[in-house]
Amino acid sequence: MRYSLRCFECKEEIEDQRAYTCENCGGLLEVVLDLSSVEAERVFDERSPSVWKYKELLPVDREPITLQEGGTPLYRCRSLEERLGINELYVKHEGMNPTGSFKDRGMTVGVTKALEFQAKGVICASTGNTSASLAVYASRASLPAYVLLPSGKVALGKIAQALMHGAKVICIKGNFDDSLRIVREISKNPDFYLLNSINPFRLEGQKTIAFEIYDQMKGIPDAVVVPVGNAGNISAIFKGFLELRELGVIEEVPRMIGVQAEGASPIADAFEKRETEIEPVERPETIATAIRIGSPVNAKKALNAIYRSKGYALKVSDDEITEAQKDLARVEGIGVEPASASSLAGLKKALEIGVVERDEKVVCVTTGHLLKDPEEVLVVCGTPLEVEADVRAVLRAMELEN
Ligand SMILES: *Cc1c(COP(=O)(O)O)cnc(C)c1O
Ligand SMILES: [Zn+2]
Repeated sequence: MRYSLRCFECKEEIEDQRAYTCENCGGLLEVVLDLSSVEAERVFDERSPSVWKYKELLPVDREPITLQEGGTPLYRCRSLEERLGINELYVKHEGMNPTGSFKDRGMTVGVTKALEFQAKGVICASTGNTSASLAVYASRASLPAYVLLPSGKVALGKIAQALMHGAKVICIKGNFDDSLRIVREISKNPDFYLLNSINPFRLEGQKTIAFEIYDQMKGIPDAVVVPVGNAGNISAIFKGFLELRELGVIEEVPRMIGVQAEGASPIADAFEKRETEIEPVERPETIATAIRIGSPVNAKKALNAIYRSKGYALKVSDDEITEAQKDLARVEGIGVEPASASSLAGLKKALEIGVVERDEKVVCVTTGHLLKDPEEVLVVCGTPLEVEADVRAVLRAMELEN
């Protein structure tokens, strides 16, 4: 695949393939593919979806470091359709990736690029899932991994993964935004390749969510609802749809609807004022730790995706998030972590305010698996009953439980 790197803001072409930002203007970078020789019918054929099914649309020239990521289920949710009063609702469950979040789609590409660039190690800041995914792919690539986490604010399952897969895990007395500032400084040393979503190659892997939605639906929905933290994923999915349009596979792109938590909503706030830049939130706070980010690096790309697709950005409360999490779990059997449930919570709100019409076809992306954050479950569901080990005590407990 022929491709180049370009500044997303000043549109300057970037020579240094390992750059993270534009040296002229400091802007974000994006990968621009030459799609002229791609035969879309050959790529979007009957094979089952996966990240590497779309290798002709990925900027990688060597054997990838892979754990068969992607190919996640797209569930039709008829019970929730009825409950919400919407015509067609699908959940794209990214929690079904190898490490339990969509981050794997980006990491398979990002860690492969790290080898291509002969980096000696990989590094990231993380609210948890990026660190888990980086640890796993780095171990498969035999590269040392270093991860910075905000102390006390990372779900247990994610730390467990990073530790077991051998990353050097460092918790800092600060939040995610502080962690990212520090790793960006450290990664000026070329020995360490930075794999946060400021890295343009990571987003290339994540755009395959759009390709899979198209492949699985044999078409596109009216809207795609995405939880937004550092804002890479919504930008990546939009890019995927743009490329499908450039290939002539689709005519229009779906509306991109970004959802944030009330305590960490710089993008939804900027959208409310129809601005293209955010005002960072100083002390972001939410039960959805994966989107507890006050200063999203990809804000400009995300707002561009939202405006260009005629989409929307909104925020939901922690209560609305946990209610949606329970709905997904109990009505559809789909277990997701809190941040992921913000997409369904956002859809409910979008329906209420008329941003999504009831006769539309919508995909909610659920970004991470329930088992990532078992401690939150005990907080919102309570701990299990404990009774004496006899039949009568259990029967009594069963009645109490109705
Ligand atoms: C990383 C992550 C997000 C946020 O994605 P961004 O690309 O940072 O906007 C949302 N949910 C989960 C579960 C995540 O791991
Ligand atoms: Zn620039």
